[in-house]
This record gives sequence, C-alpha cells and structure tokens, in this order.
Amino acid sequence: MFNLFKKNPETISRTTPGFEEAERRTPTVGIILLILMFIAGIYFGLFAMSDIANIPDRPASLSSCSYKYQTDTTGRTIYDAKYPTYYEEDVINSLAYENSKNCAVQLSPLEDTAGVSALFTKRIAIEAKIDPIASEYVDLQQQVNKIQSQIQRATGEYGVGLQEKEAGITEPVFPTAPSQQSIVELRKQEAPMLARMSVLKGQVDALKPSLDAVDAELVTAYKPVFKAFERAMRWYEFKVFLLQFLLLIPFFFLALRKYLELHRKNSPYTVILTTIVAVLGLLLLKTILFWFWGLFLEEILRVLVVWFGKYNIFRSLLFYFGMFFSFAIFGGAVYFLQKKIFDPRRVTIRRFRSKECPQCQTNLDLSAEYCPNCGAHIRTTCAHCSKDRYIGLPFCPHCGDKSEV
Ligand SMILES: [Zn+2]
Ligand SMILES: [Zn+2]
Repeated sequence: MFNLFKKNPETISRTTPGFEEAERRTPTVGIILLILMFIAGIYFGLFAMSDIANIPDRPASLSSCSYKYQTDTTGRTIYDAKYPTYYEEDVINSLAYENSKNCAVQLSPLEDTAGVSALFTKRIAIEAKIDPIASEYVDLQQQVNKIQSQIQRATGEYGVGLQEKEAGITEPVFPTAPSQQSIVELRKQEAPMLARMSVLKGQVDALKPSLDAVDAELVTAYKPVFKAFERAMRWYEFKVFLLQFLLLIPFFFLALRKYLELHRKNSPYTVILTTIVAVLGLLLLKTILFWFWGLFLEEILRVLVVWFGKYNIFRSLLFYFGMFFSFAIFGGAVYFLQKKIFDPRRVTIRRFRSKECPQCQTNLDLSAEYCPNCGAHIRTTCAHCSKDRYIGLPFCPHCGDKSEV
C-alpha cells in the first residue's frame, strides 16, 4: 500500500551527485589579481582600439552649413522636416541670422569638387541684401512688441477707470483721461513702425525667391557630396575595423589554443588563460559588433523600434520574451557552471583523489573491486590489455586504451 511516511531511499549516482566541491585551486588573492588583470586588460585594450582609429585618414568633415542641404528619402531637406516654420516672423528672424560666409571658408574637398563654393558665393550676395532689411525688421518687431504690451497695460487701466467712473468714485485710482491719452500716443508711435515693417517684409518677400532658388541648387549639388561622404565614411570605418580585427585575432586564437591545451591537462594555470581569452574575446566582439552596428544593425534596430512603437502588443511581447531571454542567459550560465562542477568524471576524479567511493563517498581502498558500502563497481578488466582499470575514468592506466567503461 502507498505509505505517506515512507522515506524515499536517497539515491546517489554518478550522474546525479549532490556534493559540493570542497577544493578551491585559486586563492582569494589570486582571484582579485585576476579581476584586476581583466579590468586593466579591457581598459588598455579599449584605449588601443580607439587609438587605432586615428591611423587611417578620416574623411574631411563637411562644412557646418551642409546639414541644411541634406535631404531625406522623400526629397525634403532633413533640416526643414526637423524645424518647420509656421510664422512669417520666424522666417524673417532666421534670415536675419543667416551667414553662409562662415561655411564658405571651410569647405571640404568633396564640396569643392561639387561646385558648392560658387553657389555659396551667390547665396552670400543675396544674404548681403537681405541681412540689413531683416535686421531692421527684427529690431522694429522688438520695439512694436514693447509698445503693444504698454498699450495692453494702459487698456487695462482705462477699463478700471471706467468702472470707477460708473461707480461714482470721486478720486479714481486710474483716471480715464491720462490712460486714454497714452493709448492714443502709443498707437501713434506704433503706426509708422508697422508701416515700415510691411515695407521691409515686401522687400524680403521680393528677395526670398532668389534665395530659395540658390538653396534648391545647393540641395542638388550636395546630393552627390553626401553620397560620396557616406561612402568615404564606410570605407574609413572598414579600414579601422580591419586594423582592430587584425591586431586582435592572432592573439585571441593563440590564447584560445593555449587555454584549450591547459584545460585538457587540467592545469591550475587554466584560470589565467581564461581571463586572457575573456579580455581578447570581449574586445574582438566589441570590434565586430561596432562595425556591424554602423553597417546595418543601427538601421534594423531603428526600423524595429518604429515598428514596435506602432503596435503596442509587439512591445509588450518584446518585454515578455526579454524575460524568457534573461532566464535563458542567466539560467544557462548557472546550468553550465553546475554541469562543469558536477561533471561525473570530475566528481569521480575528486572522490578518487580523496580515496572515496565515487558513488557514496565511503572511504575506500583504491585496490578494492567493489565499494563495501553501496556495492558500486570500482574496477574492471580492460578490454584491450586485460589488466585492472577504473570505471568512470577515460584511460586504462596500463595500456592507455581510451574506451568508455
Ligand atoms: Zn559506495
Ligand atoms: Zn588496458
């Protein structure tokens, strides 16, 4: 009958051993030193990698005005898409501060060959005509704003004065007559300014089309410039990547080979090589990822973000799968560690070393054939040389035969 209180007998086998690894080969000081070595390695490695970026010639950057003439896929300039102007005042305001002179003096060779310089000269000539007009307009605008706020205040006082008059207050705080007087006077000041402003605006409006025409020419002239610049940048990035890659890859493989060699020998120095391989591997990974990032990952990610932003359910799913992804990464790491520590062969070696039964840890004479406690088979006859060999260890101690027993 099923018995609730019956204890399950503890099963200990080579495949499911549950004992801690007592032995630690690397002391704490050693581990701290290795961590320091890792940090120093990464630090100097990153420095070296970023310094290599100075070796190939970086394409000369485009002039500071060029961004205004870069178009997106729709043909509209990126600048206009980013800073749309809704008010006429904004247009004149920005015209007052336009200065292509600064751009024209620092053109890159790419811009020179595209004939941008001549177009800037044309633009500077038009700007020279617009600038004083626009500046005067902006100055007048500021004065008018000041007057208008004064008119607003006087109007408020006039309103209060009227109420006081209606209420029959003999000594009003705001007598209506002076308020009225100042409003009339302010309006008189304002009128010629507004008239002048509309004249100025007419002059700007007359000049603006020629400026727009030059800008349209500039957009066309800049198209191949941006394309060539982009290509030059990609080529430069590739050269940097190649240099970094070539500098890292031989040492990475050398370290990896040494690591595998030491690992096979179960050497106590494996841990040093593990750190070195980790440093070089991380630097290599960073180099490759950065290059791929610039090449297309950035674009893919941008598209994905836009796409996920459109459909909320995808975003939720993304986070949801992110959770499982982190389970897989961290759980996987712990699983890997546990598997390494409790690898049956390692457990067997550990227990043989302390003269214990590989199954139940009873103290054992290694010449015994069976464990006196659990009856586990310790030694068997080698199929190759017919001498005794241990079960659970890969090689026969007499003939070196390698076959699972
Ligand atoms: Zn045993
Ligand atoms: Zn043998």
